[in-house]
Amino acid sequence: MANPNQEIKYTKLFINNEFVDAKSKKTFVTINPATGKKIADIAEGDKADVDLAVEAAKKAFARGSEWRNMDATTRTRLMNKLADLIDRDSNIMANLEALDNGKTYVAAKGDVYFTAKLFRYYAGYADKIHGNTIPVDGNFFSFTRKEPIGVVGQILPWNYPALMAAFKWAPVLATGCVSVLKPAEQTPLTALYIAALSKEAGFPPGVLNVVTGFGPTAGGAISSHPDIRKVAFTGSTEVGKLIMEAAAKSNLKKVSLELGGKSPLVVFDDVDLDEAVPLAQEAVFTNHGQICCAGSRTFVQEKIYDEFVKRSVALAKQRKVGNQFNADTKQGPQVDKDTFDKIITYIDYGKKDGAKLEVGGKRVGTEGFFVEPTVFSNVTDDMRIAKDEIFGPVQSIIKFKTIDEVIERSNNTNYGLASGVLTKNIDNALTFANAVEAGTVWVNCFNATAVNTPFGGYKESGFGRELGEEGLSSYLETKSVSIKLPCRN
Ligand code: NAD
Repeated sequence: MANPNQEIKYTKLFINNEFVDAKSKKTFVTINPATGKKIADIAEGDKADVDLAVEAAKKAFARGSEWRNMDATTRTRLMNKLADLIDRDSNIMANLEALDNGKTYVAAKGDVYFTAKLFRYYAGYADKIHGNTIPVDGNFFSFTRKEPIGVVGQILPWNYPALMAAFKWAPVLATGCVSVLKPAEQTPLTALYIAALSKEAGFPPGVLNVVTGFGPTAGGAISSHPDIRKVAFTGSTEVGKLIMEAAAKSNLKKVSLELGGKSPLVVFDDVDLDEAVPLAQEAVFTNHGQICCAGSRTFVQEKIYDEFVKRSVALAKQRKVGNQFNADTKQGPQVDKDTFDKIITYIDYGKKDGAKLEVGGKRVGTEGFFVEPTVFSNVTDDMRIAKDEIFGPVQSIIKFKTIDEVIERSNNTNYGLASGVLTKNIDNALTFANAVEAGTVWVNCFNATAVNTPFGGYKESGFGRELGEEGLSSYLETKSVSIKLPCRN
């Protein structure tokens, strides 16, 4: 049940299966974005705490440790137990998520369901990760081993806090790695809650650790730590570049980056508008526009452009903005003041650059960080609202004529995370799917992310893939072993 007064149990760092204060004893405040008021004081970890967490993780990963000796099938069982515990506490977790992030309770429930599903999906892989035997020349027997990479640092964004923790932790547990994870400073509550559940599920101390705190301090200590073998980062392209730099300058730790996007959704003129208009709007307004794969460039073919805009405006007007715990709310507050200010600034840029503000554009209410669902028409590719990631409920509707033109314009961006195409014409759908430079293409749907399909970016949207079987690979090293034999057979 939705409960804005959910008790907050865990506010400290989670190291070695214990909740502890930061060494400095410092704390920071996490707020409810609907009111701007404090939810809780959270331990502010920094380098000293990351060092402790890394020591705990190293111990958990040491040769002969309980974790290293554990059967893969036992890891599967523990991961399934963790998923069951998340399901058991899904109301609590959804309340924490809605409170901390501002997303609706209904959406948070969906995220928590996906979180448990992700642990279950990767649980099934734990005992299916293995190498090959290889027919090399000569009298040798050669095989490969797939080994866990070891201590992994993981840094999360605030837009899907629980789900992002599962994106990171599920492959860690399936491969037998150990983790030091930093949630975003805006939304630490659900990662801490999952950490508590991991202890209850029976994971040994040091396998999963959480250091809450800020980017340049706690995050920087992770990305530059000499004993962390890999860093997995989800967040902005700007910070992704810093992570890679820190990794290179410290110990050349391996890096996987899931970064920002400016994803095109192309709507051809053969669509059913009753389906296409809501789908295109949901593609960008989901999670209040705070989604890395948001279809934030809505390309619409010229014949249906005017009608499409008219209907999109009518639909945006109906979108209910309000407190995230109300059952009829479609859109809660943006996560914090910085995000809110950035969105309002971009709406201003849209007007200044000559786009037509059709609806929205203003703050809702006087407290918290609510933005009206906003639709711009007459948007051109050179405008800032068409080029930059806004991360808010702002739809830019752009006109196009031909498929070749729209493919070129879709690809005319430094990003390449996701894309979509709506059409009944299979040739257009497949031509677009083959030609678009993006890690994901959705045909006649959008944001249809599944646990078993690889997810990640082209170009400055990052590299490496999460989810699916491919999501395991960046947590594994491949070792070749060759044995000299007296004869071949
Ligand atoms: P952000 O880059 O500001 O912060 C992400 C994380 O990095 C936070 O935990 C932050 O504390 C940390 N950080 C900041 N500076 C750091 C530094 N110098 N060193 C180490 N860590 C540092 O991003 P955000 O505002 O939290 O999230 C929004 C961004 O994330 C958007 O660009 C969005 O597209 C992207 N995102 C991408 C995906 C994906 O899968 N591709 C998913 C969700 C969000």
